[in-house]
This record gives sequence, C-alpha cells and structure tokens, in this order.
Amino acid sequence: GNGKLDRFVVIGGGISGLSSAFYLLKEAKQRGRKAVITLVDPSERIGGKINTLRRDGFIIERGPDSFLARKTPIIDLAYDLGIEHELTGTNPAAKKTYILHHGKLHAMPPGLVLGIPTEIAPFAKTSLLTWKGKLRAAMDFVLPASKETGDESIGDFLSRRLGSEVMERVAEPLLAGIYAGELRNLSLAATFPQFRDAERKHGSLIRGMRANKRKAALAPPSVSRVPAAVKNSMFLTFKGGLATMLEALDAALSNVERRMGRKAVAFRQNDPDEHGEDSAPYEVLLSDGEILEADGIVITAPAYDAADLLEPHMNVDALRDIRYVSVANVVMAFDKASLGVDFDGSGFVVPRSEGTTITACTWTSAKWLHASPSNKVLLRCYVGRAGDEAVVDLPDDVLKEAVRSDIRLVMGITAEPLFTEITRLHHSMPQYPVGHLQKTAQLRTKLRAEMPGVWLTGAAFDGVGLPDCIRQGKEAASGVYKSLLG
Ligand code: FAD
Repeated sequence: GNGKLDRFVVIGGGISGLSSAFYLLKEAKQRGRKAVITLVDPSERIGGKINTLRRDGFIIERGPDSFLARKTPIIDLAYDLGIEHELTGTNPAAKKTYILHHGKLHAMPPGLVLGIPTEIAPFAKTSLLTWKGKLRAAMDFVLPASKETGDESIGDFLSRRLGSEVMERVAEPLLAGIYAGELRNLSLAATFPQFRDAERKHGSLIRGMRANKRKAALAPPSVSRVPAAVKNSMFLTFKGGLATMLEALDAALSNVERRMGRKAVAFRQNDPDEHGEDSAPYEVLLSDGEILEADGIVITAPAYDAADLLEPHMNVDALRDIRYVSVANVVMAFDKASLGVDFDGSGFVVPRSEGTTITACTWTSAKWLHASPSNKVLLRCYVGRAGDEAVVDLPDDVLKEAVRSDIRLVMGITAEPLFTEITRLHHSMPQYPVGHLQKTAQLRTKLRAEMPGVWLTGAAFDGVGLPDCIRQGKEAASGVYKSLLG
C-alpha cells in the first residue's frame, strides 16, 4: 500500500536476477518509493552461469565470455554501473574464424552473417562446399517464400531455403555454438526471427540478410553509446572479465538482502479476506524454513526449477518442454614458445559430421588480448551438444586426453599445458522448442492474471544472451511495479 515499503523477492542470482534487482531499485527511486529486495540463490556466490577465474595473469571465463556489442541493454547497464571504461573488444588482427572440414581448418568465407552468406563471390569460391551444395543454396533466390505463418525449426527453415549441405557444414556449427543445440529442434521464431522476416519481406533469405546488412551499415543501430575505443568490435567484454560486471552489481546492490546458499522452495498467495488487509500478498518459503513476505516476486531460475515453484499453482508444461543441454569446456594455458603455432584468427567450430570430441575451440589469447600474458597462450575447447552430452561426464583425465588429441590432430599442438581448467555446466543451455514463444506467453499471461506481481523471466524465455537477460530483468522490474501500482 501507499507510504509503505515495497517488498520484493528475486529468485535467482544470475544476471537476470541481478538486473531485475538493479532495475527494481531504479524503478522504485523513479517512482519515489522505498523498495526492500531480497535475493535468493542456492549458490554461495552471485552470477549464476557467469563465472570468471583470474589465475596466473590469465582471465578465464568458465561460462559466458562476451556479448554482442549491438545489443544495447548491457551497454546501458555498464554505463549505469560506471564501468563502461572497462569494456574491451576483440583483437582486430584475429577476425578470421575457421570451420573444420574433413579434418582440416578452412577459413570461413567472408560475408557470412549468422551462418548465412551475404556475399556471393567468397561463397562461390569456398572449398567448404560442393558445387551441388552451392547451387542448392542459390535456389534461395528463386524459391517462393513459405505461406505458413506458424513457427518451425531453424533446421527445417535453413534446409528449406539453403539446402542441407550449407545447413550442416556452415550454419549449424556456427549457430549451434550459441545453443549447443540440434537446429532441427530449435524454434526459429524464438531464436532467429530475422531469418523468417528476411524470407517474408524479400522472398529470399540471402537477399533479406544482405538488405539488413546494408541497412545496418547505413544507420548503425543505437550503439552510439559504446566508448569510441571499442566501437568496431562485434563482441565485447570487460578487461577484468565478466566478473567486473558482477563486482559492480554487487556493490550497487549492497542494500539488497541476500539469502545465499538457500533455495526458494515454494510460494503462496495470501487471501486478504483471510489474512487481513495488511498482510503481504505473497509469502516465499526458503529451504531453511525462513518465510519472506512479498508484494512482488521475480522468478529467474532455469525453467526446470521455475517449474517446481509454479507447479502447485498452474500447468507448467511450457516450462517442462524446455530441454537443457549439458556442456563443458576445457581451458588450457601454454607457454607461447612451446607451441610453434600461429593463431591468425579467433578459433574454429566443428560440424557434427567431423566426429571429434570438441565442438569448437576459441583461441582465447588471440581473440582477447586482455585474457592472457603476452608470452602465453590460452585455448578454450568446448565439448557437449544436443545428442552428445555423455562426454561432459567423462573423468577429468579422459576428457583432457580426448581434447588434447583433437587439438593435436587439428592444429598439431603436442605441448604439455601449463595448467588445465575443466568446467562442467550441467543442464545449462536451454533449447527453445518450436512454438516456444506462444506457449510461454500463454503461461505468463495466465500468471499475470492470477498472481499479479509474480513475474517469470530469465534465459529460459526471451533470449539467452547476456544482453537479452538484462533486458528481461529490466522488463521484470517495470512489469512488477506496473502490476503493483499501475
Ligand atoms: P542463471 O545464470 O542460470 O541464474 C539462475 C540462478 O537461479 C542460478 O544461480 C540458480 O542457482 C538459481 N536458482 C535455481 N533455482 C532456484 C531456487 N529454487 N531458488 C533460488 N534460486 C534458484 N551468453 C552470452 O551473451 N555470451 C556468451 O559468451 C555466452 N556463453 C555461454 C557459455 C555457456 C557455457 C553457457 C552455459 C551460457 C552462455 N551464454 C552466453 C548464455 C548466458 O550465460 C546465460 O543465458 C545467462 O548467464 C543466464 O542468466 P540467468 O540469470 O537467466 O540464469
């Protein structure tokens, strides 16, 4: 009510929860209100999947390592936190990316945008594809746009437009890096709606993506706020790693109550007729028995955990339908002198058909100059994807050997690493199923109607990227306040 404190419980201390809390405070201030926020997370540290290790002069990211510069919510947050001067871009001398094909690294043809060719000449010349595959892709110029209006999988869409060869050899390894997914099971509408728009507006995916590129070049999207020093980089991070953002958020949220090492296990809605006008509309029960009173709740836990919380109140099939893939990464540090390898790019991706253990390898010290002392090399190899997850649970030494064998075959690296860091992220990559947007929208609409002030958000919903999570946190803050006060 008026003049009282607004009590909020934020469930989950990942970037979605932290930005929800941050923007709830901001929203409260703008509305001239006083907010008391409690953040709950079973982990002892904030950040969720963001996890930076600083070791021996290296900046090692165990989870996400960077973000797309053109997505502004994270840039805005960096400015809000006063850490914009900490932003750093990729090494301009390491722009090349490679694809493994028949055991050899092939430079990605220039002009690929999200795996879609937008320049014809380099695409026509690439040794990655057969003539048949290239001709099939060119059919995109003449095939009519589909008249179906519903969602479909990215895999079905791409093979429909460009053929299965381009899909499997180029688009899949590139796009799958983002979701560790099987493109035939991922929703197009929820992941790359711009592909479908391109087809609809231009009758051709390639033509549409080219038009988008021209448009972006003429009128760069609102990245004008990016510090000049990093303006030309497509990806950005912070010089001290993504932990820099966590540290700044931690400080900005110093007044936020923490309940770390504890889970929210249930919540309930109080009936004002039964509990009196003064009772809080909601109560959140924590795993240690504590009960938190709340006027608003923001749930940012992964879909399977959110489903457990919501199941007593409504049908949660839309959440249970979101499968999460397990992945791991193996980071290795080397003495540069011991390698004798020249890294003239940012790394390589691996199509499924190659049969290696690793799905990709980032040449981290070449891509990010801040990440390693200059006489050292840092490599980050990825394992695990939809349909190939058992590898994640191989014992450390077996996993290490499998990864080293791959980089020996692909890059000729035989040197002993100075150290190796393995990170396993079980059930960490949400796979938006076909129909995801519609199904989750229905669930969230129902939730808003039945339990105003309870907001369901996070990477499970409307974008997995860090900027998307921050945007969703901001939307949560204004949404919760709107349902509370109008
Ligand atoms: P999380 O970080 O998963 O946080 C959710 C939190 O909820 C967790 O801390 C969990 O402990 C907590 N929780 C669960 N249940 C409960 C409960 N009952 N009560 C209280 N708390 C609970 N994105 C990029 O933009 N760039 C990248 O380079 C990138 N790389 C990635 C690499 C990997 C290996 C992975 C896994 C993801 C990557 N992503 C990347 C995606 C991005 O990291 C995530 O989408 C994002 O960090 C998710 O944030 P979140 O807060 O929504 O979820």
